[in-house]
Amino acid sequence: MLKDSFYPPQRTLMGPGPSDIHPRVLQALSRPTIGHLDPCFIGMMDEVKQLLKYAFVTENEVTLAVSAPGSAGMEACFVNLIEPGEKVIVCINGVFGQRMAENVIRCGGQLINVEDEWCQPVSLEKLQATLEQHPDTTAVACVHAETSTGVKSDIEAICQIAKQHDCLTIVDTVTSLGGIPLYVDRWDIDAVYSGSQKCLSCVPGLSPVSFSSNAVDKIKSRKTKVQSWFLDQTLVMEYWGNKAARTYHHTAPVNALYALHEALLMLKKEGLEQAWQRHAMMHNRLYQGLTDLGIKFLVDEQHRLPQLNLIAIPEGIDDVAFRNHLLRHYNLEVGAAIGGLAGKAWRIGLMGYAAKAENVALCLKAFEETLN
Ligand code: PLP
Repeated sequence: MLKDSFYPPQRTLMGPGPSDIHPRVLQALSRPTIGHLDPCFIGMMDEVKQLLKYAFVTENEVTLAVSAPGSAGMEACFVNLIEPGEKVIVCINGVFGQRMAENVIRCGGQLINVEDEWCQPVSLEKLQATLEQHPDTTAVACVHAETSTGVKSDIEAICQIAKQHDCLTIVDTVTSLGGIPLYVDRWDIDAVYSGSQKCLSCVPGLSPVSFSSNAVDKIKSRKTKVQSWFLDQTLVMEYWGNKAARTYHHTAPVNALYALHEALLMLKKEGLEQAWQRHAMMHNRLYQGLTDLGIKFLVDEQHRLPQLNLIAIPEGIDDVAFRNHLLRHYNLEVGAAIGGLAGKAWRIGLMGYAAKAENVALCLKAFEETLN
């Protein structure tokens, strides 16, 4: 009883995340733990910042990894940028937009929703009209890659509209970073957060974030204290900032940051554009193969995410029994759908290290053999 070490099965992860992790990243995790204020560790953190700037395509000084999952990156953006009473528009076309809205409420903000159908991108016309109706809006928030549906929204256009109305922009890139084009500076994104466990193929539990100088000015000129001590970026920057003497804020997840450093190095070596192309290529293979099996993709081609494929469960197939069969017989994880799509669709992830030909082939073989 309770004496054996835990050895997880070797799965192929093709769900909505976490994704498969490259052995190099897993090896990095097992290197000796050193102090989180050790000069060697601080040097590595500085490299993580540089690498994150590369991945986000930004020059933002305040670019770092929050020591907690994507949800904490989301909260970090809202609690720092929204003060009680401020009007915030949240564009909602799936589960993660809904969570952003919940964050606005919890910050005491005045929430204005711009809602779109699930499986559709954020409507630019609706956003424009809502901003005209609410000229005192201070921020616009939206999700780049909606993991609940596999839909991509046009962040460049959304931010352009928001900027015409002098709003700060907050963007969720948890599923998009490293998988599809994302340009934080060029698109005028003021606050962006992501997750380590999707297209970066790192261990779950870290959230890369980046704040523009506009966002930093807003944080510095707040009238009220940030309600979360842990996520207050002015305090966090005493640890992650550029000063030679770093101040203890919290104990950083040392080994997880080695893993993020390694994952980002691998992304840099491959090249961002090449990584985006690889995701697109693997998606095309998967699309072709599944379409040949008669499976229907639920998102229109122009809005479809290559790294998260929403497909209809074929008639007469039991959702849970099918996915359990794949897990048991092929060690293959595909994702259930959530919210209103639960029981009607599956989500097949092709994220980071998992976006490779062997995985597509395994998935197609498993589908073909199990459906026939
Ligand atoms: N936002 C999006 C788009 C996500 O897909 C997820 C997780 O799947 C999150 C936020 C929350 O991230 P985490 O589960 O790492 O807290």
